[in-house]
Amino acid sequence: AEDQLRQAQKMEAFGHLTGGVAHDFNNLLMIVLGNLDRAERLLKDLDLDRAGQAIERARTGARRATTLTQRLLAFSRRQKPELQPVDPNALITEMSDLFRQSSASKVVVEFALVDQPWMVMADINQFEIALLNLVINARDAMPRGGAVTIETAKVTRGTQSVPASFPVPGNEFVQITVRDTGTGMSREVMARAGEAFFTTKEAGKGTGLGLYQVRDFVKQAGGHVTIESELGVGTSVSIHLPRLPAQAEDPSADPSAEGDQLA
Ligand code: ADP
Repeated sequence: AEDQLRQAQKMEAFGHLTGGVAHDFNNLLMIVLGNLDRAERLLKDLDLDRAGQAIERARTGARRATTLTQRLLAFSRRQKPELQPVDPNALITEMSDLFRQSSASKVVVEFALVDQPWMVMADINQFEIALLNLVINARDAMPRGGAVTIETAKVTRGTQSVPASFPVPGNEFVQITVRDTGTGMSREVMARAGEAFFTTKEAGKGTGLGLYQVRDFVKQAGGHVTIESELGVGTSVSIHLPRLPAQAEDPSADPSAEGDQLA
């Protein structure tokens, strides 16, 4: 019965959410249309610089609208995950402008990417949304500015980041960490973060689906999420995705033949 109550509450929240998303989506479309109109006028005046800026703003608005609907789609799971080999460093590098645009001006975005990264198997669209969700959370936790660091590392089981008891199979993982110098989370918030619709953000700002999407994405890819947070110091969210050969392993393959065969 408690489950049913929870489910009912979630459905109610879902109703609110879709209403909220429709509203936000509409606002973003207004931004896109407004800027396209502006660009058209500026082009007629041959004011190419400002026309370019208006087009850029339209593009940013359209991207944000995509993120919004993707979150909703991911939640309702209408999208089937399509796993493909992904180089996390390449993906992060491609997204670096988007990360900067998603961050407030007082937030610096830093990268610490490992040399010769390992490949992972993942749904690239979900991967992008998950990274954006983490960067947006980091930004939201730093209203007075700070630094968000996006870091990749190659980690193996039996080390501090992947203890022997790590709850998913595999020995080698790509670790992607998004670290901020923000507010941090209280114990109560930590315990509930990642629950669908749990948010501490004001209406219209948070959906409570960001970390839910991140967990869902990582689970699909056979990985694991860990969160460390200290109030007043900051938060770091790490996602661990199994290294590609570990998943694609052919049982007849020679296990000693690992190495850079993917490079
Ligand atoms: P939303 O961002 O829409 O609130 P999330 O699932 O992404 O949804 O996050 C849930 C809650 O977890 C947030 O409302 C916030 O309280 C907390 N949280 C998530 N990431 C961070 C972070 N980097 N720093 C501080 N709190 C965070």
